[in-house]
Amino acid sequence: MRNPLQLVLDFLSPPQERTTPALDKAPRTPDSTTTPEPGALRTTVRPSAPVQMPDEVSIAHPRANRETVLEGMRVAYLFQRVRRRSIGFLVGPDGLEVRAPKWVTLKEVELGLQERAEWVLRKWSEMQERQKNIRQIEWREGASLDYLGAPIHLLLSPQNGRSELNDQRQLLLALPHSAEASQIRDAVQAWLMREAKNLFEQRLNHFAPLMGVQWRRLSLSNAGSRWGSARVDGAIRLNWRLIHLKPEAIDYVVVHELAHLHEMNHSPAFWKVVADILPDHLERRKALQKENLANWA
Ligand SMILES: [Zn+2]
Repeated sequence: MRNPLQLVLDFLSPPQERTTPALDKAPRTPDSTTTPEPGALRTTVRPSAPVQMPDEVSIAHPRANRETVLEGMRVAYLFQRVRRRSIGFLVGPDGLEVRAPKWVTLKEVELGLQERAEWVLRKWSEMQERQKNIRQIEWREGASLDYLGAPIHLLLSPQNGRSELNDQRQLLLALPHSAEASQIRDAVQAWLMREAKNLFEQRLNHFAPLMGVQWRRLSLSNAGSRWGSARVDGAIRLNWRLIHLKPEAIDYVVVHELAHLHEMNHSPAFWKVVADILPDHLERRKALQKENLANWA
């Protein structure tokens, strides 16, 4: 279970999870014949799925183990039994995942899905939209990738003792000309992570005194769906992939996390702390939303 004191920067959407209001744990009577009570969970269930099954699976999770039809669309999803209090629905890059506690019947799961059909399909189409922004890096000489919001080019440079960026925005990699893609990737990522750590520390040290907070430990993450997080004890986690983005975007995430050392929530008081330092935080946040760190690979 996630540390409740750890706040996750939540503006990056995938994966999105929706939780049902906790279902009643009391034993249920067979529900095929009973009329749902007003206000009960299943009162809003739509008419059953179309009789005709479409041929194509419209949304197919690679590890799908169950299927349903949502508003005429065939959806193959991953279903898991987990220890939790309610059914969880999650739409991620792979598709739909449903997690339910043992005491929830498959029928209830299906009813929950039908209730959320519109939500699932909308999240999926948003996900597809984001996938268009995939930034696949080619790990070869001459290939380019973004560093601080502008492209740099990869160059194999056996005579180099360590990787360095020159004035022409060429990243000279200390690798033989025969280097394989995986070696190039490792060398580039190591360099990016080193740069990320240095820059993030510098920006944390810049903003923390301005905001009257003290951070204690920086760790780098590469969690696809999170830009950063902060804990009350001052530990900050930042996604090293942020190093691909413009400095304004990085500063926004740094300030956002530091602001959590004041306010461990997203209350108006929290946003005031952010706005005091970055009056244009809304624009920065919007620009950030277009980026999909998860897809840098
Ligand atoms: Zn936050």
